[in-house]
Amino acid sequence: MAEYEQMLAANEEWARDFAGQLPVAPKRKVAVVACMDSRMPLFPLLGLAVGDAHVIRNAGGVVTDDTIRSLTISQHLLGTREIVLVHHTDCGLQKTDDESFADLVEQATGVRPPWPARAFTDADDDVRESIRLLQESPFLLSKDVCGTVYDVATGRLHRVA
Ligand SMILES: [Zn+2]
Repeated sequence: MAEYEQMLAANEEWARDFAGQLPVAPKRKVAVVACMDSRMPLFPLLGLAVGDAHVIRNAGGVVTDDTIRSLTISQHLLGTREIVLVHHTDCGLQKTDDESFADLVEQATGVRPPWPARAFTDADDDVRESIRLLQESPFLLSKDVCGTVYDVATGRLHRVA
C-alpha cells in the first residue's frame, strides 16, 4: 500500500476522536524552528499540545529567508513572542557540504541549485549562527530566542549557551 493510503486511513481514526476547533493563534505564544529529521516528534518531545505552538521545519532547522518569513507572520499576525531552535545530533546536513551537495544535484539533474544546502559540522555552532541571524533580522517583534540541540541517541535536549 502506498504511504499516502495508510495516512488517509490513519486520518479516519484521528478524525473520529477529533477534539474540535481551536483558535488560530498558538496558545503558548511560541514558535519552534526545527530540523525535518524523522526522529524528532516535536510536540511530545517538547511537551506541547495541539494548538500550543507554531512548528517551522526544514532541513537542518536553519534560519533561511523562508524561516524569517514564517516567524514574521507568526509574530505579527499570530502573536508569538518566543522562539525555540531545535537542531540535533547525527543530522543529514553534517554528512555533506554546500559544494559537494550542489555538485551532486548538478550531476543528477544538470542544474546547479542557486541556494546553498546550509550544511554544518557542529550542531551547537550552527545553533549559535541561527541565533545570530535572528538577532540581525529587522522584521521580528521579539528576539527572545532559546537554542537547543536534541541528542537522537538519548532523547535529551541541551540548551546551547
Ligand atoms: Zn537534521
